[in-house]
Amino acid sequence: MSSIKRLKILEAPADTKQTRGLDVVTVTAFAAVMPPENKHGQVGGKRLILHPLLGNKSTSSLWERRIMQAKIGKENLPKPQNAITIAVSSRALFNMDLEQDIYEQQGMEDYLNYQIQHEMEPFAPGPAFPFIKAVEAVNTRLRELYPDSEELFDVVLMTSNHAHVGLRLINSINHHQLFLERFCMTGGNSPIGYLKAYHTNLYLSADSLKVREAIEAGIAAATVFSPGKITEVPETQLRVAFDGDAVLFSDESERIYKAHGLDKFFEHEKAHENKPLDHGPLKGFLEALGKLQQKFYAKGQRLDCPIRTYLVTARSAASSGTRALKTLRSWGLETDEALFLAGAPKGPMLEKIRPHIFFDDQMFHVEGAAELGTVAAHVPYGIAQKIPPKKDGKKDTSARQLE
Ligand SMILES: [Mg+2]
Repeated sequence: MSSIKRLKILEAPADTKQTRGLDVVTVTAFAAVMPPENKHGQVGGKRLILHPLLGNKSTSSLWERRIMQAKIGKENLPKPQNAITIAVSSRALFNMDLEQDIYEQQGMEDYLNYQIQHEMEPFAPGPAFPFIKAVEAVNTRLRELYPDSEELFDVVLMTSNHAHVGLRLINSINHHQLFLERFCMTGGNSPIGYLKAYHTNLYLSADSLKVREAIEAGIAAATVFSPGKITEVPETQLRVAFDGDAVLFSDESERIYKAHGLDKFFEHEKAHENKPLDHGPLKGFLEALGKLQQKFYAKGQRLDCPIRTYLVTARSAASSGTRALKTLRSWGLETDEALFLAGAPKGPMLEKIRPHIFFDDQMFHVEGAAELGTVAAHVPYGIAQKIPPKKDGKKDTSARQLE
């Protein structure tokens, strides 16, 4: 990137009166003398980081936020290969139900017109919003402890929406004060290539077909559902709950259960107690969370760790639970809490835990959790997917969806 381009990003839009004369002058002067290969430096004791111009015309509020972030030195976009990258679709992050209805019932032109007419109206939070907020709270703590480390969460907005909707998305991100700088507007193309390019550790979407495609490509992914009621979740501790079989683990034991029943399943698990299960689609994400937890432990913050993980499984502690715990141990992983429900419903337990997200491969558990106020996400992996979903008059999700 040439130095000219770097200077260009410092041309503030005409209406940024609040920031003009404050940081713009300082930053411009800084950029003028900054060698092009430098990404950041110090001015007046403040750490400054410069960024390339976005593809579209930045709104003034985005510009203002950019300046403010530069001033306090908060913004530090890590390289995708160093970061824990979470790709989230616009419809998972924000509530776009009304707009989706307009698209489905009236078509693309009416949809785009509506979005443009309501451009200054921010979207309300969607199901993945509290999770992303909590992820940002963890990043704040990590930056305090390790100012120069790139081992952080990095959130990418992965959307198939038209560029016209991009401005409303930017306005919504600013309105909700999300530190979300990476946009991937796929224009309706499959997101898989982009997810791989970003080294995505987790993809959250409202479109089950895209999620299925991602899982098949070996990317940890889940379809997020809005809970039936609002549950207050912690703002300073990210809580993530995982099912075991066909989520953290493979579905090999689940297959025994489905084919031969519960007794044979118990027998099989007892006999194979010391043989670790193969990994499932979300093992890598638990591993990534564990890596960040270690960074807090290394600074003596084990008890005050802003990440907490849970295994919430239908296995029972006495019999089949041992293999699950031994498997995690063999991987060098652990969850902070392990709940063996022995077939009891998961919803009430999750209601107590109040996680930001709960992953399960069975829609039965996803629906049960969502009904009681947990943001539940479906991982379409393993033998449970072979059972045809119940026909209950819900919308056909096979139609092309805008994300
Ligand atoms: Mg399962």
